[in-house]
Amino acid sequence: MTREQLIKLLEDIGAIRQGHFELTSGRHSATYIQCALVLQYPNHAEALGRAIAEKFRELGPSCVVSPALGGVIIGHEVARALGVRAIFVERDRSGQMALRRGFDLKPGERVLVVEDVWTTGGSTREAIGVVEQNGGLVVAAGAIIDRSGGRLELNIPARALLELEVPSFEPDDCPLCRTGSSAMRPGSRYARAGS
Ligand SMILES: [Zn+2]
Repeated sequence: MTREQLIKLLEDIGAIRQGHFELTSGRHSATYIQCALVLQYPNHAEALGRAIAEKFRELGPSCVVSPALGGVIIGHEVARALGVRAIFVERDRSGQMALRRGFDLKPGERVLVVEDVWTTGGSTREAIGVVEQNGGLVVAAGAIIDRSGGRLELNIPARALLELEVPSFEPDDCPLCRTGSSAMRPGSRYARAGS
């Protein structure tokens, strides 16, 4: 899959949208990314998983670990393509990321951490920490989209299928607001109440 084919797929499905959006962080952006919309189609999820797997196959991971919830489906598809198992980390009652449900790692087991989108990379960083605490060796990290434009520093080999430079702004500083348009919240079920 070329970069152009991938962008076209994501735009056709609405997983990447252009406009004026209020993100969950409260910041405004001209671009909205929601990978769940492409991952709802198993054939697309499988193809994306295969494409990520090929970037890391030679590193010989024997397990894929993903942060829940966003990373679970794509992590599972990457693992399917690699022929290895897929597990996930999730928050425990104290809010810390942890391996639960009886998931564990062998000492020194080679792990690929997979997520859907990197914005700050925080969830991937937390997942790396959990793998290390559990005795695993993180060999690399992969994602469908890196919206930091490739500026993320994870201290391990890290590659996304698509690097996008997606600026966001505090509402007071938003150039789109200054044109008189108002931001919409694409992730919420209800349209923002009119003024
Ligand atoms: Zn705005």
